[in-house]
Amino acid sequence: MEIREIKQKLRIETVLAHYNLKPDRHHFLKCPFHNDEDPSLKIYPETNTFNCFGCGAAGIN
Ligand SMILES: [Zn+2]
Repeated sequence: MEIREIKQKLRIETVLAHYNLKPDRHHFLKCPFHNDEDPSLKIYPETNTFNCFGCGAAGIN
């Protein structure tokens, strides 16, 4: 594992913790960008990105 990969993983975890968000074991969490009742936002720790299947929010942190 490269140090750069570790830093990316730490970074997205830090961002999530800042917003008090905890993804489940499938990397899904309740989307902060729309009124989400069931977790529909997926985190991709490998690429440090996320995508919401409910409202389409996506980005790189
Ligand atoms: Zn959303």
